[in-house]
This record gives sequence, C-alpha cells and structure tokens, in this order.
Amino acid sequence: MKTQLNLESIQNWLPSKNSPLLISGPCSAETEEQLLATAHLLAKTGKVSVLRAGIWKPRTRPGEFEGIGSIGLQWLQRAKLETGLPTAVEVANAKHVEEALKAGVDILWIGARSTVNPFTVQEIADSLNGTDVPVLVKNPVNPDLQLWLGALERINKAGITKLGAIHRGFSSFEKSAFRNEPMWELAIQLKTLIPELPIINDPSHICGNRELLPYVAQKALDLDMQGLMIESHIDPSQAWTDAKQQVTPSALNDMVNNFTLRVPESRNEEFIDKLADLRKEIDKIDDLVIQKLADRMAITRKIGEFKLENNVTILQVNRWDEIMKRRSAFANALKLDIHFTEKFLELVHGESIRLQTEIMNAGKTENKQLASKVVH
Ligand code: PEP
Ligand code: MN
Repeated sequence: MKTQLNLESIQNWLPSKNSPLLISGPCSAETEEQLLATAHLLAKTGKVSVLRAGIWKPRTRPGEFEGIGSIGLQWLQRAKLETGLPTAVEVANAKHVEEALKAGVDILWIGARSTVNPFTVQEIADSLNGTDVPVLVKNPVNPDLQLWLGALERINKAGITKLGAIHRGFSSFEKSAFRNEPMWELAIQLKTLIPELPIINDPSHICGNRELLPYVAQKALDLDMQGLMIESHIDPSQAWTDAKQQVTPSALNDMVNNFTLRVPESRNEEFIDKLADLRKEIDKIDDLVIQKLADRMAITRKIGEFKLENNVTILQVNRWDEIMKRRSAFANALKLDIHFTEKFLELVHGESIRLQTEIMNAGKTENKQLASKVVH
C-alpha cells in the first residue's frame, strides 16, 4: 500500500537550538523537586530543546510505579515557565491527551506499547482531531514496520501534520547487549518510504544501560537521524523507573560534547568528484553481481529439471552444508563479515529451492501456487 503523509517541515514546529536536536528529561516525573532540579540543569547545558517526562507509565507488572499522574502536569508547567523549555509527555488514551493539552504540553508522544495496538492509536487519533499539537510516534514493541506506519497514518488522518517518529528499538527473543534491538534497517526503511518524516532516535530505551548510550547515539547521528531523545535524571541510580539507563544532566552534556557531527552532503568539489567515481565503481560491481546471480539461477533451473527427470529430492543437506562451509571460509579469507556471508548464502539458497520447487510442480497449477507460498 502506498504511503503518503501530509507533513509540515520539522523546522516549523520543532526548531532546534543546537545540533543535534535533543529531547531530554527524566523517564518519569517523580516529585516536583526532582523534575524542577533536572529541568534546570538540563536547561543550563544549553543543549536541550525539549523537556520530556513520563506522567503515566506503562509498566510490565502491576504494582510497579505507574506514574505520578495529572499532578505531574502542573510540575511540568512550572518547569516550562522557569526554564523556557517546551515540554513533551507520553499519552496512551483520550483522557491523557485531553489533560496534557489542557496543561499546555507542547509535544505528545505515543509509546511503543500503544503503537502496537490500532484500537489505542485510533482512540488517541480521534481525541487529537481538531488540534494541531505535534505528535511523535515511537516504533511498536515488535519489529513490524506496517504497524509503525499505520500508527503514523492514523494520527496524520486526524489532521496532525506536525508529525515525527521515534526509533526506540524492538523487543527480541534473543539475548543481546541491548534492552531493545535497534534493528536499524527498520528505521532506514521508514525513512526511505517517507523521506520527509523526521526520525528521532531514543538510545536510552535501545540500550537499557548508560555504557552503550554514546555509541548508539553516535550511530543514529551518522545515519542522519533528526535528533535524539535521551533520558536524564538528577540522581539516576535512585530513579523510580529505568534507573540503569538514565544519565545526569552533566553526563549528558559531556556525551553531547563528544559527538562527532557529520554533514549529510559535502559541497567540496574534490569530495563530490571522488564520491561519484567510487559510486560508478560500485554500480559496475552491482551490475556484475546481479548478472552472476541470474547465471546462477539459470543453472539452478537446469539442476531442478535434472532432479525432476531423475526423481531426486530438491534438498540434499550434505551439499548445502558443504556450500556453507566452503563459501564461508573463502569469504572469511577475503575479510567479509561471517554473518553477512551466511545471510547472503541463505537468501540465495532459499531462492534456489523456490525455483526448483516451481519446476518440480510445473503443470500442477494449484500446487505451483501453493508451493511458491510454502517456500516464501
Ligand atoms: C519512555 O519513553 O519512558 C517509555 C516508556 O518508552 P517506550 O514507549 O519506548 O518503552
Ligand atoms: Mn523510560
């Protein structure tokens, strides 16, 4: 399905004082003192453009701190008045939207646990109708680009044109160094589908710890993301939520000072010429790779026909094992990444099996369609 959003340029609604655009503040508003003290220190860095704070917290288990609730909106109002920083909160239902707007919150965001549910997103969208508050949509908990897109579309259809996405990583079954797998390719795919949509990276919820934060934030900047949302707390280890991943305003300041900012495109002529030459070389090689892949698949078809004539199964595990071992060793010797090589070979092998399945079932029209579904 085609994706078309009606968007206003982020410069019109979220002007950044600095590069990168930085949204920061505590995971949760806990007390008036904690919120105000954090806000003042963040404002003092001069690097923060928006103050964030969770007022209603979606928690995995009941009984955990579920957010301070509406009273926190008054603290945020005070923080905004005293620091001049615009504010952002998470909304998860129509009542949150109504209260946040009444309290003069400047930007709303939809959390990962809400984006997964179209009913919730639609309820929020309906409650936004007739307003023009900026909204940021976090990616859903699960790696589903369509769900993320769908949420953005629902909010946009409600007339919200000041719209952005937040990349906060995805829940994964496999253990990893991250709290939520970044799966950068999903954010890149979103950017490719809607180039004018600003994407803000949330390294705090990707990392789940302080140590990895600078690396993930830097990678997001290198991928030309529009900004960062980083949780900051006056006393992180005592935070009521997400204590392991929050940083003090002063640590945040240091981290930002150490970022390397690169430009998406250089105007230097020597650079432009050299890049164009290198890209020409890449284009040639890509054409060759595609040609060779086509040659390979033509032979695969022949093999399929040969197996069909001789009534032999498509898959011979030993042969596949041998291919994987030999090619991986060769690729390794050429300094190609092992995971990349394995993924590539698996894709090629998958396509070979699909082609051979088609050949084996040629003539049986129904089966052919079914077979191609099975192997996809
Ligand atoms: C948050 O920003 O504090 C939060 C709850 O994030 P997420 O929806 O990404 O889990
Ligand atoms: Mn948090």
